[in-house]
Amino acid sequence: MFNVDAIRREFPLLQREVHGKPLVYLDNAATTQKPQCVIDSLTNYYTSMNSNVHRGAHCLADEATRAYETARGQVARFINAARECEIIWTSGTTEGINIIARGIADRLAPRHNVVVSAMEHHANLVPWQQACHRSGAELRIAPINDAGDIDMTALAELIDSNTAILSVAHISNALGTINPVHKIGEMLKSVNPSALFMIDGAQGIAHGDVDVQALGCDFYAFSGHKVFGPTGVGVLWGRESVLADWPVWQTGGEMISSVTYQSAEWNILPSRLEAGTPNIAGAIALGTAINWLSQQDLEGLRAHEQTLIRYADERAAQVSGLRQIGTAEKRIGVLSFVLSQGHAADVGFLLDRQGIAIRTGNHCAEPLMERFGLSGSARASFSIYNTVDEIDLLFTGIEKAKMMLE
Ligand SMILES: *Cc1c(COP(=O)(O)O)cnc(C)c1O
Repeated sequence: MFNVDAIRREFPLLQREVHGKPLVYLDNAATTQKPQCVIDSLTNYYTSMNSNVHRGAHCLADEATRAYETARGQVARFINAARECEIIWTSGTTEGINIIARGIADRLAPRHNVVVSAMEHHANLVPWQQACHRSGAELRIAPINDAGDIDMTALAELIDSNTAILSVAHISNALGTINPVHKIGEMLKSVNPSALFMIDGAQGIAHGDVDVQALGCDFYAFSGHKVFGPTGVGVLWGRESVLADWPVWQTGGEMISSVTYQSAEWNILPSRLEAGTPNIAGAIALGTAINWLSQQDLEGLRAHEQTLIRYADERAAQVSGLRQIGTAEKRIGVLSFVLSQGHAADVGFLLDRQGIAIRTGNHCAEPLMERFGLSGSARASFSIYNTVDEIDLLFTGIEKAKMMLE
């Protein structure tokens, strides 16, 4: 059974105080806190097996390699990848998307187009912009409605036989919208079976039920730090048939099979796309995080998150002067809002004085904020360890902030 108190006890940071108040951590869309087992996994690696992987002829190197490859397997099973070699370790979502955008730029011609949505994080917008600038291809932006849902009719009209790739967020970090990614993939492939489909899974990984094969995508990228793992490590999953001959983006050690002074041949997956010494401790700890998450009552924690966002919506509707940004029916625990009484940055500052951590600003989605006529918003984002009591504290804090701003 899902028990939020038991879960909270596993996260040491949640026990601390900020400005003399118990911490209320509501910035989970920016990064999640780490359970003790993930922290222990990092420490244990450096304490007992630190060594380089795949190269040593000694016991430590064997142990490190085994732990590192075990983590790859844990990730593969968690997202239901067909093969472990489809799991590429990256530094995070940003790097994963850049590997694909860089690679596709070589294949784009001016007649091609690339499709994204109007709600994308800069990490899933700017790499495509740059690929289009370099190749002369057209970047097409699927509009969203006022609730924060992609306009599927308009999206359908943007896809054609010249669409090289469509990339969209599984879940929006700024609005919380859960996009119908499966449907989008079907739509894309029915019009253009050779078009590639990428999903930015930075938010999807911690909240969704990610099965990359069932989703019908070719690439899925996410970051460790948003799914209770460490920073500096992430995953790019790609369908083996597509990834096997993907343009290499970095060259050096580990990614080659043979080298002469004048030429080199590339290794097979996954090494082919993993040049240099990786974030070994990070990958192992991300495996631990994913293992930890998959042992939780996943249905229970999704229901808990829905309870939190429904309650927050109810409370938000009763606050005069509060405008909620992003009210899609299918949404994770993201409450994005502005107050008529004051600037989002001031709201964030005043909440922080009460120990409540939220994010303010454009949430790395400046064009999206502009779409809503805003330069930024305040965003409270919930995770599995947040409670209804904390949402009450958030709204008490908002009322106090309003009084001080009025
Ligand atoms: C956080 C986030 C990113 C970027 O992730 P990094 O860890 O900064 O690379 C991309 N897309 C979405 C939807 C995000 O929430």
